Amino acid sequence: MNRRQFLCLCCAGPFTAVFARAQAAEAGCFAPLPAELARHELVAAAWSGLDPQRVWDAHAHLVGTGDSGGGAYVHPDTQSWFKPIERIRRKVLMAAACVDDAPDGAVDARYVERLNALLDAFPPGFRMLLFAFDHAVDDAGVERPERSTFHTPNAYAVAVARARPERFEWVASIHPYRPDALERLDAAAAAGARAVKWLPSSMNIDPASARCDAFYARLVAHRLPLIVHGGEEVAAPGARQHAFNNPLRLRRALDAGVRVVVAHAATLGHARDIDRGEDGPRERAFDLFARLMDDARYEGRLFGDLSAVFQRNRELDVMRRLLARGDWHHRLLHGSDYPLPGIGLLYSMPMFIAAGLLDAATAEVLLRIRAFNPLLFEFVLKRTLADGAARLAPSVFHTRDFFAPQNDNN
Ligand SMILES: [Zn+2]
Repeated sequence: MNRRQFLCLCCAGPFTAVFARAQAAEAGCFAPLPAELARHELVAAAWSGLDPQRVWDAHAHLVGTGDSGGGAYVHPDTQSWFKPIERIRRKVLMAAACVDDAPDGAVDARYVERLNALLDAFPPGFRMLLFAFDHAVDDAGVERPERSTFHTPNAYAVAVARARPERFEWVASIHPYRPDALERLDAAAAAGARAVKWLPSSMNIDPASARCDAFYARLVAHRLPLIVHGGEEVAAPGARQHAFNNPLRLRRALDAGVRVVVAHAATLGHARDIDRGEDGPRERAFDLFARLMDDARYEGRLFGDLSAVFQRNRELDVMRRLLARGDWHHRLLHGSDYPLPGIGLLYSMPMFIAAGLLDAATAEVLLRIRAFNPLLFEFVLKRTLADGAARLAPSVFHTRDFFAPQNDNN
Protein backbone atom coordinates (compact mmCIF):
# COMPACT_ATOMS: atom_id res chain seq x y z
CA MET A 1 0.00 0.00 0.00
CA ASN A 2 1.47 3.36 -0.95
CA ARG A 3 1.20 6.46 1.15
CA ARG A 4 -1.63 7.99 -0.83
CA GLN A 5 -3.84 4.92 -0.39
CA PHE A 6 -2.97 4.86 3.28
CA LEU A 7 -4.02 8.49 3.71
CA CYS A 8 -7.34 7.88 2.02
CA LEU A 9 -8.07 4.93 4.25
CA CYS A 10 -7.26 6.99 7.29
CA CYS A 11 -9.79 9.64 6.45
CA ALA A 12 -12.64 7.49 5.27
CA GLY A 13 -16.08 9.05 5.14
CA PRO A 14 -16.65 12.61 4.04
CA PHE A 15 -12.97 13.35 3.89
CA THR A 16 -12.42 10.66 1.28
CA ALA A 17 -14.51 12.70 -1.14
CA VAL A 18 -12.51 15.80 -0.36
CA PHE A 19 -9.30 13.91 -0.98
CA ALA A 20 -10.51 12.35 -4.18
CA ARG A 21 -11.41 15.77 -5.52
CA ALA A 22 -8.31 17.35 -4.11
CA GLN A 23 -6.18 15.35 -6.47
CA ALA A 24 -4.35 17.99 -8.42
CA ALA A 25 -4.22 16.01 -11.60
CA GLU A 26 -6.58 13.13 -12.06
CA ALA A 27 -4.48 12.12 -15.05
CA GLY A 28 -1.38 11.75 -12.91
CA CYS A 29 0.78 14.56 -11.66
CA PHE A 30 3.32 14.51 -14.45
CA ALA A 31 1.21 13.44 -17.42
CA PRO A 32 1.75 16.04 -20.15
CA LEU A 33 -1.22 17.90 -21.57
CA PRO A 34 -2.43 15.91 -24.60
CA ALA A 35 -1.84 17.67 -27.93
CA GLU A 36 -5.57 17.75 -28.57
CA LEU A 37 -5.99 19.97 -25.49
CA ALA A 38 -2.77 21.94 -25.92
CA ARG A 39 -3.94 22.95 -29.40
CA HIS A 40 -7.59 23.31 -28.46
CA GLU A 41 -9.33 26.39 -29.81
CA LEU A 42 -10.34 27.34 -26.25
CA VAL A 43 -6.67 27.53 -25.22
CA ALA A 44 -5.76 29.43 -28.41
CA ALA A 45 -8.61 31.86 -27.75
CA ALA A 46 -7.34 32.38 -24.19
CA TRP A 47 -3.99 33.56 -25.54
CA SER A 48 -5.35 35.60 -28.40
CA GLY A 49 -5.00 39.30 -27.69
CA LEU A 50 -2.31 38.68 -25.06
CA ASP A 51 1.45 39.08 -25.27
CA PRO A 52 2.81 36.12 -23.24
CA GLN A 53 5.92 38.18 -22.43
CA ARG A 54 3.68 40.48 -20.42
CA VAL A 55 1.66 37.79 -18.67
CA TRP A 56 2.89 37.07 -15.17
CA ASP A 57 1.04 35.03 -12.58
CA ALA A 58 1.06 37.57 -9.76
CA HIS A 59 0.18 35.25 -6.87
CA ALA A 60 1.73 31.82 -6.37
CA HIS A 61 2.89 30.10 -3.22
CA LEU A 62 6.18 28.37 -2.74
CA VAL A 63 5.71 25.91 0.08
CA GLY A 64 8.04 23.27 1.39
CA THR A 65 8.90 21.15 4.36
CA GLY A 66 12.55 22.14 4.30
CA ASP A 67 13.69 18.68 3.32
CA SER A 68 15.85 20.20 0.57
CA GLY A 69 17.76 22.24 3.16
CA GLY A 70 16.16 25.43 1.84
CA GLY A 71 14.76 26.38 5.24
CA ALA A 72 11.06 26.14 4.41
CA TYR A 73 8.89 25.14 7.33
CA VAL A 74 5.43 23.78 7.97
CA HIS A 75 4.06 23.91 11.52
CA PRO A 76 4.22 20.50 13.27
CA ASP A 77 0.53 20.87 14.25
CA THR A 78 -0.32 20.25 10.62
CA GLN A 79 0.84 16.68 11.11
CA SER A 80 -0.80 16.13 14.46
CA TRP A 81 -3.80 13.87 14.93
CA PHE A 82 -4.79 16.19 17.77
CA LYS A 83 -5.28 19.05 15.30
CA PRO A 84 -7.52 17.42 12.70
CA ILE A 85 -8.41 20.61 10.81
CA GLU A 86 -4.76 21.63 10.43
CA ARG A 87 -3.91 18.09 9.44
CA ILE A 88 -6.58 17.90 6.76
CA ARG A 89 -5.68 21.36 5.47
CA ARG A 90 -2.08 20.25 5.06
CA LYS A 91 -3.01 17.01 3.33
CA VAL A 92 -5.33 18.72 0.87
CA LEU A 93 -2.73 21.36 0.02
CA MET A 94 -0.03 18.73 -0.40
CA ALA A 95 -2.27 16.73 -2.70
CA ALA A 96 -3.05 19.88 -4.68
CA ALA A 97 0.67 20.43 -5.21
CA CYS A 98 1.21 16.73 -6.00
CA VAL A 99 3.68 16.25 -3.16
CA ASP A 100 1.46 14.09 -0.94
CA ASP A 101 3.10 10.91 -2.13
CA ALA A 102 6.62 12.30 -2.47
CA PRO A 103 9.13 10.20 -0.56
CA ASP A 104 10.63 11.73 2.56
CA GLY A 105 13.42 14.04 1.57
CA ALA A 106 11.89 14.80 -1.83
CA VAL A 107 8.94 17.07 -0.98
CA ASP A 108 10.59 20.43 -1.72
CA ALA A 109 12.10 19.17 -4.96
CA ARG A 110 8.85 17.59 -6.08
CA TYR A 111 6.93 20.81 -5.45
CA VAL A 112 9.19 22.73 -7.82
CA GLU A 113 9.42 19.91 -10.34
CA ARG A 114 5.65 19.79 -10.57
CA LEU A 115 5.43 23.57 -11.03
CA ASN A 116 7.99 23.38 -13.81
CA ALA A 117 6.01 20.65 -15.52
CA LEU A 118 2.82 22.71 -15.38
CA LEU A 119 4.58 25.76 -16.75
CA ASP A 120 5.74 23.78 -19.78
CA ALA A 121 2.19 24.11 -21.12
CA PHE A 122 2.53 27.92 -21.16
CA PRO A 123 4.16 29.86 -23.99
CA PRO A 124 7.68 31.24 -23.55
CA GLY A 125 7.63 34.57 -21.74
CA PHE A 126 4.96 33.66 -19.22
CA ARG A 127 6.33 33.85 -15.69
CA MET A 128 5.16 33.26 -12.16
CA LEU A 129 5.82 35.26 -9.00
CA LEU A 130 6.81 32.90 -6.19
CA PHE A 131 5.94 34.15 -2.72
CA ALA A 132 8.19 33.86 0.28
CA PHE A 133 6.30 33.81 3.57
CA ASP A 134 7.68 35.31 6.78
CA HIS A 135 7.13 34.00 10.29
CA ALA A 136 4.67 35.48 12.73
CA VAL A 137 6.44 38.11 14.85
CA ASP A 138 5.00 39.35 18.15
CA ASP A 139 4.47 42.93 19.23
CA ALA A 140 7.89 42.91 20.89
CA GLY A 141 9.52 42.13 17.54
CA VAL A 142 10.32 38.51 18.42
CA GLU A 143 9.92 35.82 15.78
CA ARG A 144 7.26 33.26 16.84
CA PRO A 145 7.56 30.09 14.76
CA GLU A 146 5.04 28.35 17.02
CA ARG A 147 2.39 30.79 15.73
CA SER A 148 3.41 30.44 12.08
CA THR A 149 1.35 28.03 9.98
CA PHE A 150 4.17 27.87 7.49
CA HIS A 151 7.30 29.74 6.55
CA THR A 152 9.18 30.17 3.30
CA PRO A 153 12.44 32.12 3.66
CA ASN A 154 13.31 34.83 1.16
CA ALA A 155 16.57 33.02 0.40
CA TYR A 156 14.68 29.89 -0.63
CA ALA A 157 12.35 31.84 -2.94
CA VAL A 158 15.38 33.56 -4.51
CA ALA A 159 17.14 30.25 -5.04
CA VAL A 160 14.16 28.59 -6.71
CA ALA A 161 13.48 31.66 -8.89
CA ARG A 162 17.09 31.95 -9.99
CA ALA A 163 17.23 28.32 -11.01
CA ARG A 164 14.74 29.10 -13.79
CA PRO A 165 14.76 32.85 -14.43
CA GLU A 166 12.84 32.56 -17.69
CA ARG A 167 9.86 31.26 -15.69
CA PHE A 168 10.12 32.58 -12.15
CA GLU A 169 10.23 35.91 -10.35
CA TRP A 170 10.08 36.16 -6.59
CA VAL A 171 8.29 38.17 -3.93
CA ALA A 172 9.89 38.75 -0.53
CA SER A 173 8.04 38.52 2.76
CA ILE A 174 9.33 40.69 5.59
CA HIS A 175 7.62 41.38 8.89
CA PRO A 176 7.78 45.13 9.59
CA TYR A 177 8.11 44.63 13.39
CA ARG A 178 11.44 42.85 13.02
CA PRO A 179 14.30 44.93 14.40
CA ASP A 180 16.15 44.44 11.11
CA ALA A 181 13.11 44.83 8.83
CA LEU A 182 14.62 47.69 6.79
CA GLU A 183 17.90 45.85 6.26
CA ARG A 184 15.97 42.82 5.11
CA LEU A 185 13.97 45.00 2.75
CA ASP A 186 17.12 46.53 1.28
CA ALA A 187 18.56 43.05 0.79
CA ALA A 188 15.38 41.81 -0.89
CA ALA A 189 15.36 44.79 -3.25
CA ALA A 190 19.00 44.16 -4.10
CA ALA A 191 18.19 40.51 -4.79
CA GLY A 192 15.52 41.43 -7.32
CA ALA A 193 12.31 40.98 -5.34
CA ARG A 194 9.33 42.24 -7.34
CA ALA A 195 7.18 43.01 -4.30
CA VAL A 196 6.74 42.29 -0.59
CA LYS A 197 3.95 40.03 0.66
CA TRP A 198 2.14 40.26 4.00
CA LEU A 199 -0.61 38.14 5.45
CA PRO A 200 -1.54 40.40 8.40
CA SER A 201 -3.86 38.08 10.35
CA SER A 202 -1.45 35.20 10.21
CA MET A 203 1.78 37.14 10.73
CA ASN A 204 0.45 39.62 13.33
CA ILE A 205 0.88 42.81 11.29
CA ASP A 206 -1.43 45.80 11.79
CA PRO A 207 -1.09 47.77 8.52
CA ALA A 208 -2.73 50.78 10.21
CA SER A 209 -0.01 50.98 12.88
CA ALA A 210 2.57 53.75 12.97
CA ARG A 211 5.08 50.93 13.47
CA CYS A 212 4.84 50.29 9.73
CA ASP A 213 5.67 53.86 8.66
CA ALA A 214 9.42 53.42 8.24
CA PHE A 215 8.80 50.25 6.26
CA TYR A 216 6.32 52.06 4.02
CA ALA A 217 8.80 54.87 3.36
CA ARG A 218 11.47 52.33 2.40
CA LEU A 219 9.08 50.49 0.07
CA VAL A 220 8.39 53.78 -1.69
CA ALA A 221 12.13 54.48 -1.93
CA HIS A 222 12.68 51.07 -3.55
CA ARG A 223 9.51 51.45 -5.68
CA LEU A 224 8.41 48.05 -4.44
CA PRO A 225 4.70 47.28 -4.21
CA LEU A 226 3.19 45.65 -1.14
CA ILE A 227 0.89 42.67 -1.66
CA VAL A 228 -1.41 42.35 1.35
CA HIS A 229 -3.99 39.73 1.97
CA GLY A 230 -7.45 41.31 2.26
CA GLY A 231 -10.55 39.72 3.75
CA GLU A 232 -10.98 36.43 5.52
CA GLU A 233 -8.08 33.97 5.48
CA VAL A 234 -8.72 30.25 5.56
CA ALA A 235 -5.48 28.53 4.54
CA ALA A 236 -3.01 29.92 7.11
CA PRO A 237 -4.55 30.85 10.47
CA GLY A 238 -1.19 31.62 12.11
CA ALA A 239 -1.53 34.41 14.68
CA ARG A 240 -5.32 34.66 14.13
CA GLN A 241 -5.52 38.47 14.11
CA HIS A 242 -8.43 38.57 11.67
CA ALA A 243 -9.21 42.28 12.08
CA PHE A 244 -5.80 43.09 10.57
CA ASN A 245 -7.02 41.88 7.15
CA ASN A 246 -9.51 44.75 6.96
CA PRO A 247 -8.85 46.57 3.64
CA LEU A 248 -9.52 49.92 5.32
CA ARG A 249 -6.44 49.39 7.50
CA LEU A 250 -4.41 49.86 4.31
CA ARG A 251 -5.21 53.58 4.10
CA ARG A 252 -2.05 54.27 6.06
CA ALA A 253 0.14 52.53 3.48
CA LEU A 254 -1.73 54.15 0.58
CA ASP A 255 -1.48 57.61 2.14
CA ALA A 256 2.26 57.01 2.60
CA GLY A 257 2.54 56.56 -1.16
CA VAL A 258 2.95 52.77 -1.26
CA ARG A 259 1.51 50.91 -4.24
CA VAL A 260 -0.68 48.31 -2.55
CA VAL A 261 -2.09 45.13 -4.08
CA VAL A 262 -4.99 43.69 -2.09
CA ALA A 263 -4.74 39.95 -2.58
CA HIS A 264 -7.96 38.24 -3.70
CA ALA A 265 -9.50 41.74 -4.00
CA ALA A 266 -10.73 41.06 -0.44
CA THR A 267 -13.46 38.83 -1.85
CA LEU A 268 -14.04 36.73 1.27
CA GLY A 269 -15.52 37.53 4.66
CA HIS A 270 -16.49 40.67 6.52
CA ALA A 271 -14.73 43.47 8.36
CA ARG A 272 -15.71 46.50 10.39
CA ASP A 273 -16.29 49.78 8.65
CA ILE A 274 -13.62 51.56 10.66
CA ASP A 275 -14.17 54.70 8.60
CA ARG A 276 -17.15 55.01 10.96
CA GLY A 277 -15.15 54.29 14.10
CA GLU A 278 -13.36 51.22 15.46
CA ASP A 279 -16.77 49.70 16.31
CA GLY A 280 -18.35 50.55 12.94
CA PRO A 281 -20.83 48.10 11.39
CA ARG A 282 -19.57 44.93 9.78
CA GLU A 283 -19.55 45.06 6.00
CA ARG A 284 -18.39 42.71 3.28
CA ALA A 285 -14.63 43.12 3.04
CA PHE A 286 -15.05 43.36 -0.73
CA ASP A 287 -17.34 46.38 -0.35
CA LEU A 288 -14.70 48.10 1.77
CA PHE A 289 -12.09 47.31 -0.90
CA ALA A 290 -14.49 48.70 -3.52
CA ARG A 291 -14.81 51.92 -1.52
CA LEU A 292 -11.04 52.37 -1.65
CA MET A 293 -10.91 51.47 -5.36
CA ASP A 294 -13.55 54.11 -6.10
CA ASP A 295 -11.63 56.78 -4.18
CA ALA A 296 -9.97 58.88 -6.89
CA ARG A 297 -6.97 59.55 -4.64
CA TYR A 298 -5.97 55.90 -4.86
CA GLU A 299 -5.90 55.63 -8.64
CA GLY A 300 -2.40 54.42 -9.56
CA ARG A 301 -1.87 53.45 -5.91
CA LEU A 302 -4.38 50.74 -5.02
CA PHE A 303 -4.65 47.48 -6.96
CA GLY A 304 -6.24 44.08 -6.42
CA ASP A 305 -5.16 40.62 -7.46
CA LEU A 306 -7.69 38.15 -8.85
CA SER A 307 -6.29 35.03 -7.23
CA ALA A 308 -9.00 32.69 -5.90
CA VAL A 309 -11.83 35.12 -6.69
CA PHE A 310 -13.74 32.62 -8.83
CA GLN A 311 -13.60 29.85 -6.26
CA ARG A 312 -16.98 28.60 -5.11
CA ASN A 313 -16.70 30.16 -1.65
CA ARG A 314 -17.00 33.62 -3.28
CA GLU A 315 -20.38 35.23 -3.87
CA LEU A 316 -21.69 35.22 -7.43
CA ASP A 317 -22.52 38.89 -7.09
CA VAL A 318 -18.85 39.62 -6.36
CA MET A 319 -17.72 37.60 -9.40
CA ARG A 320 -20.16 39.51 -11.61
CA ARG A 321 -18.94 42.85 -10.31
CA LEU A 322 -15.32 41.96 -11.00
CA LEU A 323 -16.23 41.03 -14.57
CA ALA A 324 -18.37 44.14 -15.02
CA ARG A 325 -16.04 46.76 -13.52
CA GLY A 326 -14.11 47.46 -16.71
CA ASP A 327 -13.06 50.76 -15.14
CA TRP A 328 -11.09 48.75 -12.55
CA HIS A 329 -9.48 46.27 -14.90
CA HIS A 330 -6.25 48.20 -15.42
CA ARG A 331 -5.85 47.90 -11.63
CA LEU A 332 -6.65 44.19 -11.29
CA LEU A 333 -3.88 41.60 -11.61
CA HIS A 334 -4.15 37.97 -12.64
CA GLY A 335 -2.86 35.51 -10.06
CA SER A 336 -3.54 31.79 -9.64
CA ASP A 337 -3.02 31.29 -5.89
CA TYR A 338 -1.16 28.12 -6.85
CA PRO A 339 -1.40 25.37 -5.54
CA LEU A 340 -5.08 26.03 -4.77
CA PRO A 341 -6.28 25.49 -8.38
CA GLY A 342 -5.27 21.87 -7.80
CA ILE A 343 -8.18 21.46 -5.39
CA GLY A 344 -10.96 20.65 -7.83
CA LEU A 345 -13.60 21.00 -5.13
CA LEU A 346 -12.96 24.75 -5.03
CA TYR A 347 -14.42 25.33 -8.49
CA SER A 348 -18.03 24.71 -9.42
CA MET A 349 -18.69 24.36 -13.12
CA PRO A 350 -22.47 23.86 -12.54
CA MET A 351 -22.53 27.19 -10.69
CA PHE A 352 -20.86 29.01 -13.60
CA ILE A 353 -23.21 27.34 -16.10
CA ALA A 354 -26.35 28.11 -14.07
CA ALA A 355 -25.22 31.72 -13.73
CA GLY A 356 -24.67 32.00 -17.48
CA LEU A 357 -20.95 32.75 -17.07
CA LEU A 358 -19.88 29.63 -18.99
CA ASP A 359 -21.57 27.20 -21.38
CA ALA A 360 -21.65 23.47 -20.75
CA ALA A 361 -19.46 22.51 -23.71
CA THR A 362 -16.73 24.94 -22.59
CA ALA A 363 -16.94 23.68 -19.02
CA GLU A 364 -16.39 20.15 -20.27
CA VAL A 365 -13.16 21.17 -22.04
CA LEU A 366 -12.01 23.09 -18.98
CA LEU A 367 -12.48 20.01 -16.81
CA ARG A 368 -10.41 17.95 -19.22
CA ILE A 369 -7.64 20.56 -19.08
CA ARG A 370 -7.83 20.57 -15.30
CA ALA A 371 -7.29 16.82 -15.15
CA PHE A 372 -3.80 17.44 -16.56
CA ASN A 373 -2.96 21.01 -15.70
CA PRO A 374 -4.85 22.93 -12.97
CA LEU A 375 -2.70 26.02 -13.55
CA LEU A 376 -3.67 26.24 -17.22
CA PHE A 377 -7.28 25.47 -16.28
CA GLU A 378 -7.37 28.44 -13.91
CA PHE A 379 -5.93 30.79 -16.53
CA VAL A 380 -8.22 29.65 -19.35
CA LEU A 381 -11.22 29.78 -17.02
CA LYS A 382 -10.52 33.43 -16.20
CA ARG A 383 -10.02 34.28 -19.86
CA THR A 384 -13.30 32.59 -20.74
CA LEU A 385 -15.79 33.65 -18.05
CA ALA A 386 -18.23 36.20 -19.43
CA ASP A 387 -21.38 37.80 -18.07
CA GLY A 388 -23.03 38.90 -21.29
CA ALA A 389 -20.49 41.28 -22.81
CA ALA A 390 -18.64 41.72 -19.50
CA ARG A 391 -15.35 39.86 -19.22
CA LEU A 392 -11.88 40.49 -17.83
CA ALA A 393 -9.86 42.83 -20.05
CA PRO A 394 -6.44 41.78 -21.42
CA SER A 395 -4.85 44.36 -19.09
CA VAL A 396 -5.77 42.12 -16.13
CA PHE A 397 -3.33 39.53 -17.50
CA HIS A 398 -0.56 41.90 -18.59
CA THR A 399 0.71 42.11 -15.02
CA ARG A 400 4.35 42.49 -15.98
CA ASP A 401 3.46 46.08 -16.80
CA PHE A 402 2.78 46.59 -13.10
CA PHE A 403 5.76 44.74 -11.61
CA ALA A 404 8.41 45.57 -14.21
CA PRO A 405 7.34 48.65 -16.14
CA GLN A 406 8.90 49.79 -19.43
CA ASN A 407 12.61 49.64 -20.17
CA ASP A 408 13.05 46.82 -17.71
CA ASN A 409 14.45 43.91 -19.65
CA ASN A 410 15.37 41.66 -16.77
ZN1 LIG B 1 -2.51 33.01 -1.67
